[in-house]
Amino acid sequence: MEDCIFCKIVAGEIPCHKVWEDDDFIVIKDANPKVDGHSLVIPKEHYDTFMDMSSLLCEKFLGTVKEAVEKLDVRDFNLVLNNGKVAGQLVPHVHLHILPRKEGDGPVEGNHLILA
Ligand code: AMP
Ligand code: ZN
Repeated sequence: MEDCIFCKIVAGEIPCHKVWEDDDFIVIKDANPKVDGHSLVIPKEHYDTFMDMSSLLCEKFLGTVKEAVEKLDVRDFNLVLNNGKVAGQLVPHVHLHILPRKEGDGPVEGNHLILA
């Protein structure tokens, strides 16, 4: 999709730090990491939100998280999906945040959600 920053990353038009890639998804390091290893799982095809993806692709989304987490060598992590503008989705191409956590690192501020 024109003017979509994540479509441009998928197309190789904008550089990124790639963590993992399969047929359907690319996993990259977030450009403004909230914690060490903060990464984004992005479908290669453009969907505005989670609700626009097929159920099958949603299942694969989580499978890709498992691959990426192993690649990142992370054990504890938060997954965040900001779905829609009101929920804080700034980039309108669906993506999952992987936020690796370390003992005692406290709440992560930003990404629109503080649960603890
Ligand atoms: P969200 O608020 O869930 O839409 O989050 C968008 C995320 O994309 C933010 O954490 C940004 O730091 C990240 N981001 C924006 N542009 C880039 C980029 N070119 N490469 C990597 N991450 C990006
Ligand atoms: Zn896109």
